[in-house]
Amino acid sequence: MKPVYNFCAGPAMLPVAVMKKAQQEFVNWQNHGMSIMEFSHRDKHFVDVAKTAEKNLRLLMNIPDNYKVLFCHGGGRGQFSAVPLNLIGLTGKADYLITGSWSDSAISEAQKYGEVNVVARSYKKNGLTGIAPRDSWNLSDDASYFHYCPNETVDGIEMPNEPQVSVPLVADLSSNILSKVIDVSKYGLIYAGAQKNIGPSGLSIVIVRDDLIGHALDVTPSIFDYQKMSDHDSMYNTPPTFAWYLAGEVFKWLLDQGGVAAIEAKNKIKSDLLYNFIDNSDYYANKVEPQYRSRMNVTFQLQDEVANSDFLAQAEAQGLMALKGHRSVGGMRASIYNAMPVEGVQSLIDFMAKFAARAV
Ligand code: PMP
Repeated sequence: MKPVYNFCAGPAMLPVAVMKKAQQEFVNWQNHGMSIMEFSHRDKHFVDVAKTAEKNLRLLMNIPDNYKVLFCHGGGRGQFSAVPLNLIGLTGKADYLITGSWSDSAISEAQKYGEVNVVARSYKKNGLTGIAPRDSWNLSDDASYFHYCPNETVDGIEMPNEPQVSVPLVADLSSNILSKVIDVSKYGLIYAGAQKNIGPSGLSIVIVRDDLIGHALDVTPSIFDYQKMSDHDSMYNTPPTFAWYLAGEVFKWLLDQGGVAAIEAKNKIKSDLLYNFIDNSDYYANKVEPQYRSRMNVTFQLQDEVANSDFLAQAEAQGLMALKGHRSVGGMRASIYNAMPVEGVQSLIDFMAKFAARAV
């Protein structure tokens, strides 16, 4: 069978080696005669799986000891609520930077629980989108935290460095966690929905500094309360055990790849290949300021919008799946997360070249 490359923004491609291992032990996990999905989350075998996953994530991201790692329910959007529920009570107010559409959605939730100050919005200049420069931000001096989304999945925008702010930095890393080395100690809290670089959907990971736990508003649902989740090792109620197990397998795979620095180098090669091809083509265009181009979600437009549906149909016939851009942006989007091999990006480029020359 011809290889199929899935460019979906999420749920996204998983490493083939991980899926094969999961398939092989699906019915009979480690000779127990039952599936890992059938174990109680309190069983010592599952607890061991859970602890190993956390240990390996700590290793991969070099997470300091004064941070808790929580395995939560509710995906990325769940954390749009959990973050303000747990943190906004510190002062009643929070700063939010808008880098794209997911930042906007995070604000809609936070506004239910406190005062949100929008520090700046992304801009469009000469047809290119960019992130408002730091000196234009309207920061408040009494914010409980500063929230931003370093990689905007829909818009294909990525902020290369952490912003310098004087309050705890909270980041939605749903679409670029584990794609590059970051210094966790610069953040108060990091969260990420799992379905891009971690594993199956439904799970979200929260990495939170100890001093930011224990400030939840009274109305906070218990399963969203970081204190309760932490006190119960993320098993206050039944966690999504299969997603947790598979995330653990992805972490082992990442360690086998040489860790985050090694995958970052590969991600740079993949995204450079694709952006260079787009920049050298008269037929395709990317509309993001070059310094803010995402290494995970590469958006591009065809010269002629009418050709979009042909492009998608022919790409699919070549095994290049899910390239349609988000409806709010239009055009195409190639999500090239950690599990996408360089060969997948090369196949896409070969196809794009042929399509532009009408030679598919
Ligand atoms: N934040 C970002 C950056 C995302 O890309 C997404 C989903 N694509 C979300 C939040 C929402 O995640 P979920 O669908 O898991 O709630």
